Amino acid sequence: MTTALRIAGLNGEPVDVEREAVSALMARLTGSLLLPDDNGFDAATAIWNGRISARPAVVIQPASTDDVRTAVDFSRERGLQLSIKGGGCHIAGISLSDGGITLDMSHMRSISVDPGRRRALVGPGCVNQDVDRATGAHGLATVLGYDPETGVAGLTLGGGFGYLTPRFGLSLDNLDEVEVVMSDGAVRRAAPDENQNLFWALRGGSGNFGVVTRFTYRLHDIGLGVTGGLLIWDAGHAADVFDAYQETVLEATRDFNVTLIMRLAPPAPFIPAEWHGKPVVGVLACHIGSAAAADGDFARLRKVDGMIADTVTLKPYVDQQALLGRLQPPRGMHSYWKSEFLGGLSSGVLGTLGGHAEAITSPLSHVHVFSVGGALNDHSIEDTAFANRDARFSVIAAACWSPGDSDADRHIHWARSTWEGVRPCSTGGNYINVQTADEDETRIRAAYRSNFEQLRRLKAQYDRGNFFRANRNIPPTLPVPQR
Ligand SMILES: Cc1cc2nc3c(=O)[nH]c(=O)nc-3n(C[C@H](O)[C@H](O)[C@H](O)COP(=O)(O)OP(=O)(O)OC[C@H]3O[C@@H](n4cnc5c(N)ncnc54)[C@H](O)[C@@H]3O)c2cc1C
Repeated sequence: MTTALRIAGLNGEPVDVEREAVSALMARLTGSLLLPDDNGFDAATAIWNGRISARPAVVIQPASTDDVRTAVDFSRERGLQLSIKGGGCHIAGISLSDGGITLDMSHMRSISVDPGRRRALVGPGCVNQDVDRATGAHGLATVLGYDPETGVAGLTLGGGFGYLTPRFGLSLDNLDEVEVVMSDGAVRRAAPDENQNLFWALRGGSGNFGVVTRFTYRLHDIGLGVTGGLLIWDAGHAADVFDAYQETVLEATRDFNVTLIMRLAPPAPFIPAEWHGKPVVGVLACHIGSAAAADGDFARLRKVDGMIADTVTLKPYVDQQALLGRLQPPRGMHSYWKSEFLGGLSSGVLGTLGGHAEAITSPLSHVHVFSVGGALNDHSIEDTAFANRDARFSVIAAACWSPGDSDADRHIHWARSTWEGVRPCSTGGNYINVQTADEDETRIRAAYRSNFEQLRRLKAQYDRGNFFRANRNIPPTLPVPQR
């Protein structure tokens, strides 16, 4: 006699599913279905934040849109919880359903670039560097994040900012169309000329409206080289670096993107060994204009004393995209991030951040100040579900530590107090893509600001039963009671 498989239902309660039904599902898939003892299960459920302990009962690795549809139908018909995993980078670990079914999209990783039309068709399992390499071969790029290994799907559906954001906006501003499997299993195209409300909701509403099975991005000519790299100083000169950073950001054209980094120096080959583990301030910079324009725009920063390293050179854009990946903590470390959008910077707020950076508790932790202003601000709040159109900077206090480190509480406290220090300067919004697991509906509402109620109405229209709820959830509006 075969026992049933226990799978978490929509509210987390266990549902018994006959093994025969699971075998029949497996037989219908072109892709694979994995149970916890199967080879590949651990790799399929490994996510960026090792602090997350959620473990699905079943992993489905679809190979096609049809497979996604089959998985959605199977889960919905039985009331099973389904999560969607792109690159597995969301810090809250929402890509994994605890005890339910996880759709691991990593096998849908195809890319096709049409240089003539300047479009790229991208599978939902791709990570940033897959796309950057394919488009970079044609001297083209779309807006994706700074880290090469981040999943494009979650990144784009929640926002997506990176080196090209000042010039071209968010990743979601560069979407031309998407193909999506809805909660009822229907496959729809959403674009400016079809299913416009759905297209609006998907651009910021993340995984709340369906499973995206194909993204079409607009591409931009960025030439064969950018001027980019890292400038690093002894943190003793932080105040001067902050002044130069502020002046540079104020005067920069949209071709220039500069991110401020505060941390203990990692043991990178381009940092002299005597500085490893010591407090440093860095600027991660990328200039997509001419070399002469770049020279001018870097000048103010290069005047600051106390510089330890300057790796800025002319290089292919894909090499620039790989840079941060080499400095990030490895996948599987424990992480706790807190973040806020700011409408501007002042010496006061940078000084506060600098003070917290001095008190950093782990060699893997860091503060990032991303400069996101520019084309992102050209849109009004109502243009897309992503509502933070007044954001000019994104501050992230990222606590990160090794799994065996017994000081986790101290690292978390550091991230929280750093965040508390900048909160008074927040726009009031925050970034849905970097919310931690302990952030509640108040923070989700704050992230969507005045778009939240419209998102709830559209959720009721497209996913009334809140089938897609293993995410930063937007609850559907309740039906008006009939008299
Ligand atoms: C190291 C690191 C660097 C980062 N750098 C940046 C950066 O430079 N810029 C930036 O903007 N953000 C950045 N982020 C944040 C990033 O945007 C989020 O972590 C985002 O969730 C990553 O997407 P993913 O596909 O890897 O997410 P996952 O964890 O796989 O998924 C997160 C959620 O996205 C939704 N989702 C995923 N795939 C689909 C799909 N196919 N259809 C529908 N919904 C889907 C689901 O709701 C899912 O729960 C970074 C994160 C990390 C860990």
